[in-house]
Amino acid sequence: MNNAEIAARDLNALWHPCTQMKDHEQLPLIPIRRGTGVWLEDFDGNRYIDAISSWWVNLFGHANPHISRRVNRQMQELEHVILAGFTHEAVVTLSEKLIALTPVGLTRCFYAENGSSAVEVALKMSFHYWKNQGHSGKCEFVNLSNSYHGETLGALSVGDVELYKHTYEPLLLKTRTVAAPDDYYREPGETRQDYAARRFAEMEATLERHGERICAVIVEPLVQCAGYMRMHHPEYLSWLRAACDRYQVHLIADECAVGFGRTGTLFACEQAGITPDFMCLAKGLTGGFLPLSAVLTNDDVYGAFYDDYESLRGFLHSHSYTGNPLACAAALGTLELFEQSDVLGRNRRLARAMADATAHFRDHPHVADVRQCGMILAIEMVKDKHTRESYPWRERRGLTVYRHGLENQALLRPLGNVVYFMPPYVINEQQINHLADVAWRGIQLATKD
Ligand code: PMP
Repeated sequence: MNNAEIAARDLNALWHPCTQMKDHEQLPLIPIRRGTGVWLEDFDGNRYIDAISSWWVNLFGHANPHISRRVNRQMQELEHVILAGFTHEAVVTLSEKLIALTPVGLTRCFYAENGSSAVEVALKMSFHYWKNQGHSGKCEFVNLSNSYHGETLGALSVGDVELYKHTYEPLLLKTRTVAAPDDYYREPGETRQDYAARRFAEMEATLERHGERICAVIVEPLVQCAGYMRMHHPEYLSWLRAACDRYQVHLIADECAVGFGRTGTLFACEQAGITPDFMCLAKGLTGGFLPLSAVLTNDDVYGAFYDDYESLRGFLHSHSYTGNPLACAAALGTLELFEQSDVLGRNRRLARAMADATAHFRDHPHVADVRQCGMILAIEMVKDKHTRESYPWRERRGLTVYRHGLENQALLRPLGNVVYFMPPYVINEQQINHLADVAWRGIQLATKD
């Protein structure tokens, strides 16, 4: 079997996610035969460094032997059981561990199957909490501009990336969008913190004016990943936490992409010293092995649903694979890898290596910004470095970088004109340097006219 054969069969039978299928008339589809560590290998024997952790899920490398053994062992005993009325050891241990690891005050775990469904759970729980407390006038959500929280209709409603949202607008919940404290837009000479404060004034005014109708504010702490890897100062989150308390509004922290060490701390909220009312976890939770998500919340929220059945205050939400034992075993294996070595310490060294390898990108005539938060580093290509005028999206400059990556052992998948690295934590410095070289040459090609 070779690439061409599998690709031909695929294109006869599949419809791929987030893909205009006609692109594959020009763009090769890459069938992967196996993965080891940071490497993916296709059926023709070509290898690619997975610089984007396969949509940000992989933390400790492909086919990680420890997680693999953990899932294997679980598979011999129990593959799945309904989580209503029944339970199992893996889900209990995982819940205890997540409660111990997440910010103080988060004491309950509710499970779902992916990031979007975790966001749906948090939105529904928040609305339902206020209803149970007699505040049925609260039925709106506040989000930040350029945010992303998933593709199901509720999650899409609280996102703001036009490319994914615009078409479906008539179907979506009405959401109040407040300008994000996105560092990229600060004035020359303005500090990140000053800019965050300026932006926060709008959030404060919105909560003050409309707090009575608002269930929750939802944010991606520190990095808006799908929104082109835009970053903000942690203090914004501390101010937001305090304001949510002042105006009796929940704070939902969507850590689906930034959780589990991505930003330098185990959870991004730690850098602001805050505990949200709901924390959504997914992606890296299972180290990239199996789909699983969790929503953590506090005693107050839990207590507002706890009553006699006849009160009909219970949270009657479920998914078939909620708390699946194999996925929980993968999550336990992942957490054990954090326990077994100083992952965050090693990530600090890797993050420095990523910064060093890309320091010269700032001087590139078509690079407006090189930004970094822990193990996420993003490079923004622009048409005009001085005015920061973007390249028109129709030119699809990022695709040139993607193609160049594939020809040079790298899976780089730019978001529009933003080239980024978000690699598995098992990458080494030599591989980081290779990615930087490929990205540099890719950007040269993409911006040459
Ligand atoms: N929230 C955030 C912050 C995300 O980045 C994503 C996925 N990119 C989601 C939610 C949705 O997760 P999933 O794709 O697993 O539904």
